[in-house]
Amino acid sequence: MASKRSTAEATGASTAAGSATDTPMGPTGRPYHGFPTPPKLDGHGPARIISLCNQKGGVGKTTTTINLAAGLASYGRRVLAVDFDPQGALSAGLGVQTHETATIYDLLLDPKRDPNEVIVTTSVDGLDILPANIDLSAAEVHLVNEVARETILARVLRKVAGDYDVILIDCQPSLGLLTVNALTASHGVLIPLECEFFALRGVALLIETIDKVRDRLNPAIQLDGVLATMYDPRTLHSREVLERVVDAFGDDVLETVIGRTVKFPDASVAGVPITKFAPEHSAAQAYLRLARELVARGAVA
Ligand code: ADP
Ligand code: MG
Repeated sequence: MASKRSTAEATGASTAAGSATDTPMGPTGRPYHGFPTPPKLDGHGPARIISLCNQKGGVGKTTTTINLAAGLASYGRRVLAVDFDPQGALSAGLGVQTHETATIYDLLLDPKRDPNEVIVTTSVDGLDILPANIDLSAAEVHLVNEVARETILARVLRKVAGDYDVILIDCQPSLGLLTVNALTASHGVLIPLECEFFALRGVALLIETIDKVRDRLNPAIQLDGVLATMYDPRTLHSREVLERVVDAFGDDVLETVIGRTVKFPDASVAGVPITKFAPEHSAAQAYLRLARELVARGAVA
């Protein structure tokens, strides 16, 4: 019994009660797909740029950026992760020291600077990062009087987009100028939502911000998906929140759901993605499945 339960946790799937075919149902109420292993790419670039965005903190933006990036890299995609939060958690989570190094902030301030001087490789093959540190907190003030201040990040990333298949931007928990820059630079946006009380609070404002950016700055931006995180299938509460999220967003809710597990804080401390820290763990498998789902949906090459 114990092993059966851990399998259900690992897949986030359960068998639909009373269904004639016993089709496994995913936690979002749709049939469970494994998604095929993405085909090898012949060449690389230009990158599709995706922002991970939610003005609420602690919903799994940084964790998702790290582990989705590592998952896509493991399928042979060339990935650039952009730390766009002055807290620098993405940089730390990928084991990058950021004091006394050049960061994304330097690129924002000096448009002539080559991003390749700032990009660093990580311990994960195929995954590079543009790091950030607390300096970035000054950016909003410094950039507010710039001409075309919303498109500064887009202009930085344009210079390196040809070298990558996907660029993931880890946004800060606010809807200020930095996040507007991220959305303006992006082809798509992924919204992580924690399966907790008040998960949907503030999401209307986020969608409104995305709509404004689409109207005024970046007509092509798409909602790539809503990702339910920190899901605990054993609690009624978690299941109810997920149901409400599906009611609100329908098929935009990704089939992959990330379970709640202490492995994530452990991996962060180790400074590596969970796909490397505990590759067999259900949480690592969930992020690999998310990578496959995004390729299957066409959000990533
Ligand atoms: P955000 O970037 O949105 O602020 P984080 O990714 O930093 O959120 O996650 C917030 C905290 O929750 C971190 O300590 C992280 O390790 C932890 N965490 C993230 N995802 C999970 C999960 N699925 N289960 C348990 N803890 C998680
Ligand atoms: Mg974060």
